[in-house]
Order: sequence, then C-alpha cells, then structure tokens
Amino acid sequence: MDKILRGVVKYNLHDKVRFVNDIDKFTKKIVQPQTVFISCMDSRVLPSKFVGSAIGETFYVRNAGNMIPHHEDYLAGYISSEGGGLELGCIVNEIRNVVICGHSDCRALYALYDMRKECDHKLYHQKSPLKTWVALNGRRTANKFSQLFPDEVKRNNFVDPVIFDVNLGQGHVKALIDPENDFCIQDKLSQINCLEQASHVTTYPLLQPFIKTGELQIHAMWYDVYTGNVYLFSPSERKFVIVSDSNVTSLMTECGCNSCTGVLKEKQP
Ligand SMILES: [Zn+2]
Repeated sequence: MDKILRGVVKYNLHDKVRFVNDIDKFTKKIVQPQTVFISCMDSRVLPSKFVGSAIGETFYVRNAGNMIPHHEDYLAGYISSEGGGLELGCIVNEIRNVVICGHSDCRALYALYDMRKECDHKLYHQKSPLKTWVALNGRRTANKFSQLFPDEVKRNNFVDPVIFDVNLGQGHVKALIDPENDFCIQDKLSQINCLEQASHVTTYPLLQPFIKTGELQIHAMWYDVYTGNVYLFSPSERKFVIVSDSNVTSLMTECGCNSCTGVLKEKQP
C-alpha cells in the first residue's frame, strides 16, 4: 500500500486543485462525457494516458480480456457490469461513442488460446473464476478462431491473410487479421477478440435504435504494450492501423467523429 498512499500525497500536492476545477467544468457542462471505453484491466494498459482523456470525458469499464458479454448470455442469467456500463454511458448519459480496446501479450487471451478447443465455462466453474469468465465471454471468439485456423500447419505458418467477419453496427466487414504477420498467434487471437467483443455491443436491444441510425458509433482499438503503438480498426482498410499524425484526419472522418461532435454540441446549453 506504500506506493498507493504516497501517490495520494503526491496527488494532494500537485493535482487535486486542478481536478476539482475540472469537475466544475463538468458540472457546468463545458465538458461532457463522449466515450464509453472498455479495455482490459492489465496494469500495462493505461487508456487515459494514450487517449489523453480528461475528467468527465470518458466512462471506463475494465475487465480481464476486454469482454462485452453477449446479450444472449445476459438473458440466460449471466448478469455483468459491462451491460450496465453500456446503459449507464449510452442511455443515461447519452454517449454515442463506444470503444473496445484490446492489447498485445494479454494474459486473459493466452488463457483463452489454451482453452480454445474446449471452451466450456462449466469446466472451470469450481476451479478458476478467471477461466470461467474468459471461456464464457470468449467462446465465440474461440469458435471463430478455430474456423479461421482449422489445422495446426496453417496455424503455425501465417502465409495467407486471415479474414474475420465483424459487425460494428453498420453492416458486416471482412477484416484482415494481422496481414503483415507482425504478431504472435495469441496477439492475433487478441485482435479477433477485440472485434468480436465490439460486435457484442450491437446485440443489446436498448442500443440498437441508435446503432441503426448511425448515431451510436462502435470502434475497435488495439494497443501494443511493447511498442506503445495504438491501433484503430479501419473499416475501409479492413485492418487495424497505427494511429498517427499522417492518418488521424482520415480516421476521424471514417469514424464519423464529426457527427458525434455535432450531437454533443446540440445538447450543450
Ligand atoms: Zn489483457
């Protein structure tokens, strides 16, 4: 706890006044929440740092493996905080931008990779809450991964680009998974999972009216912990691309950021 408590003392000295002032901006609606950001809970992944969000701008939901439980599982009785987080962000606070963020070297996805051939959460219920969670919410990812990599030879030699069918709310996209073959098999699974979990957002009926009109945007982001590169899935390029100065304007246009901003401006007093 020493590190945590010393952090509070440092915060008292350097940041507390600024944070309180920022809350005032939020209260006066100068700043409004714009994004629900769902990421893995990994300690190396610090989204508020790499997306530069300030107080009041982003609702964060973090869990092992950046999972969004499918709405079918919610109906089957598997209550989770993620569905509640989507409702709190998108309905109660009228946020129209959802980002699912995966990352490289994800230990939850390594667990999913090891379980991929027998991805039944009931097998792990008594032994491991982590494996139960990952198997339950990652089984659709694992099933699709097994379809994409049906044989061991192909799995170990990535000659051909792998195509993954993803629905981010505005029709299906045939995604190319790591076509440059830069990443290991578990990282490829992590990118597939990121897209699969993003597609689960579309399964929630209370969000569907906003998704159908294009008012609610769903994005898949991926973070490489070893290079620090931040990737965004580009529907036009059909793959994760590194976000940089050179492409940020085109990515903003592609993501419909202008329409998001327009919605927020209309709601300001
Ligand atoms: Zn992770």
